[in-house]
Amino acid sequence: MKIIASLIIFSLLSLNTYSDRSAPPRELVQKKVDQYISTPFKVAPEADNGLLVTNFGYKVDMACLDQWGMDFLQLVKGTLDEGLRCLEKLDRKSSSEGSGARQNAFDLLNLLSQNRISLICSQREYDWVAAQAHASVTSKFSIEKPSTAHPFISLRPLVKSATSEQVQKIRKTIFHEQFHNLGFTHSKSIEYPYTCADCCFNKASTNKEQEIKKLACKICTGNYQSVADAEYIEDYLFYAKKYFRFRQATRAAVNSIKNNPKTLLSLSILAWATSDVFNPIGRALATIIEKESVPLSEKIKINLERARYFNVKFGAKSGALISQSYYHLYYKTDALSSIKILKENKEALRSEINLLKKGKKSKFIGERIEQHLNDLIYDMWINKYGDEEGKMGISKKAYELKKFFKLK
Ligand SMILES: [Zn+2]
Repeated sequence: MKIIASLIIFSLLSLNTYSDRSAPPRELVQKKVDQYISTPFKVAPEADNGLLVTNFGYKVDMACLDQWGMDFLQLVKGTLDEGLRCLEKLDRKSSSEGSGARQNAFDLLNLLSQNRISLICSQREYDWVAAQAHASVTSKFSIEKPSTAHPFISLRPLVKSATSEQVQKIRKTIFHEQFHNLGFTHSKSIEYPYTCADCCFNKASTNKEQEIKKLACKICTGNYQSVADAEYIEDYLFYAKKYFRFRQATRAAVNSIKNNPKTLLSLSILAWATSDVFNPIGRALATIIEKESVPLSEKIKINLERARYFNVKFGAKSGALISQSYYHLYYKTDALSSIKILKENKEALRSEINLLKKGKKSKFIGERIEQHLNDLIYDMWINKYGDEEGKMGISKKAYELKKFFKLK
């Protein structure tokens, strides 16, 4: 009787889906996490198309057990237990009305309760060169062989069985991919996949690792409005830069300024993002901002100080040209001027970048500048950014530049 009563209560709680995205109550999420963790895992006697059907939200490819060992199911359940407990703890420590960690724990529990996440270990036809795993974000994602629909996580098939070191690492990967299933992508969404995996699964033995973990936990807990949220950008840039993820830092800053063009604060964030020991662009952008004849807020001044922190000895000319191109494209939303600067100075840019790339001390600076040039031109070419319905032919002009610079 007691069991039936609690089952009814559980079903009633499960019906509450909080579709309006108002924060689910903390106690409810805690209760659901406790319930999930305390439920021992089971496997259905019959497989479903080569997938083992579990009671913890997953259908697991039999190939996973061959590669990762017979304890693999326990490992996956343990990963989710640990990850959910971590999110719940982060929420408990947070004072905000509704934390991102609470919302994500709630959404994850909801997804798991539907028992339909496929975990695949036998997708041979995929470009695995740079990937350990990939996962679906929406129902537009699917795998052909073996035929799999959203939501799924696909782990790189192993040739031999996994080493104990690999087994240790796979937990973090699975938790990372889990956030993609909740709809999060890299750079276009709040960076929960990396930060929550770092926060919940990094051992962090050195000082630097502890610093990264702290920054990761802050973002994983955070309740941000969007990727353009100034607080988020600040938190994310600290995290990404600590990790030397400079390209991602720039992408986040570009996202932010695209959402808030013609604001010097966003441009100063871009200056900070594009400044580091191998990158002269941020400092050059800071100079442009200082020349604007308007009073600068304290926040802008702080970002300019951050951008000026590094004084890169090489690449001043191309750094200045690219910073001007950034300024026109994202701050002024004037792609024509942006592309004009690159076009008129293409020979100078090419020769300086090539020279830098040849030098022992300047190699990384040359590569970094080239990367920025590549991303700028790509944004105008593929995304047609700054071109009103193709009227200005920006995309075509960008394509010509892409060919000239032999960009990838
Ligand atoms: Zn990812």
